Amino acid sequence: EYININELMSHVLDRFDMMIQSSDKPKKAFSIKREFTNRQIWAEIDTDKMMQVFDNIMNNAIKYSPDGGTITCRLQETHNSVVISVSDQGMGIPRKDLPHVFDRFYRVDKARARSMGGTGLGLAISKEVIQRHGGKIWVDSIEGKGTTFYVSLPYLPYEEDDWE
Ligand code: ATP
Ligand code: MG
Repeated sequence: EYININELMSHVLDRFDMMIQSSDKPKKAFSIKREFTNRQIWAEIDTDKMMQVFDNIMNNAIKYSPDGGTITCRLQETHNSVVISVSDQGMGIPRKDLPHVFDRFYRVDKARARSMGGTGLGLAISKEVIQRHGGKIWVDSIEGKGTTFYVSLPYLPYEEDDWE
């Protein structure tokens, strides 16, 4: 499907905003900040699969931020790609673990991770989905400070789209 990425990301973030606000006893205070380009970005994607990717990235941002904080989602464009990033202010990922977080069943600090639920498959599936869309996914993190996940997808700027 040809999908408006701005709308898709708004939809995902609206749902997390609602979840955070309707939580009975919020143990951690989160706020979600959006920094989206004003340009409408369209891309050929599988909506369900793409939502699964960003659901996992957002769930991770919340799950691995024990003290809450701001989660910032940016939507930017370059000349031939759209870049979506999600930054948290959580526990971060140790440098030695960074190359492995997209591996199946890989979890940083197994004991701690087990108590938080999950299987360690979320990012492996995300990588598969993004690669199947011709895109890339990568991560930047500083232990104790926070983590940013990036997704880039190929994108044809509207002006160059010869559809008449
Ligand atoms: P699942 O997604 O299957 O429920 P999971 O969240 O543990 O389980 P992934 O989403 O694949 O699995 O993440 C792999 C590991 O990477 C996590 O267990 C966690 O250790 C680390 N990780 C992922 N996102 C973050 C983040 N935002 N901050 C800190 N660590 C993270
Ligand atoms: Mg996960």
